[in-house]
Amino acid sequence: MHTRALVLFSGGQDSATCLAWALERYAHVETVGFDYGQRHRVELQCRTAFLQRLKSRCPQWAPRLGEDHLLDLSLLGQLSDTALTAERTIAYQQNGLPNTFVPGRNLLFFTFAAALAYRRGTSVLVGGMCETDYSGYPDCRDDTLKALQVALGLGLDTRLVIETPLMWIDKAATWRLAQQLGGPALVEMIREETHSCYMGDHATPHAWGYGCGACPACELRARGWAAYAAG
Ligand code: ZN
Repeated sequence: MHTRALVLFSGGQDSATCLAWALERYAHVETVGFDYGQRHRVELQCRTAFLQRLKSRCPQWAPRLGEDHLLDLSLLGQLSDTALTAERTIAYQQNGLPNTFVPGRNLLFFTFAAALAYRRGTSVLVGGMCETDYSGYPDCRDDTLKALQVALGLGLDTRLVIETPLMWIDKAATWRLAQQLGGPALVEMIREETHSCYMGDHATPHAWGYGCGACPACELRARGWAAYAAG
């Protein structure tokens, strides 16, 4: 019986929804974030703000919410030269992937999360990866993560489960899931305190939250919110 979960929490809409999902299911939930030299520190600031607000606004979950871990993966910034870690314009590369892709990022995130989970006596890893609004990141694919679950379980000689509750739902359904899990309080918190914008804008307000409104991440978030609000 799995009672402890570790959520890969970036400070974005998807991982915030996954955190609420985990808090509904597991008796003890910890969070992990990665500092990999992100261009925009606002993402890491949103993590802390969201966790603090979650404890006060959703008291039913506060006793289950355990430690937050921030791992230094600055190595990843050295290995990649992408629009997320360097001053580059977001564009599609010749191989069809957006240049926001940090090669192998999720493989490394899950491997480090698994090592941490092992040390913390935790057998479930939760991530917000999704194939539905698929932006071409091969390490978000269900098959990649299922293979990784097997590899990590074997390599650590333990039963390890990777849960991805958003894998087959779209962004509108992700808002609906937040509504089901935590009601208007959670939706409002995710709208205000989570960050998606690739340009690091967390000051310009929109119905769907803060962002530049023009980058691919903002467009995806705006479309999802519009469909949710209309629904
Ligand atoms: Zn944006």
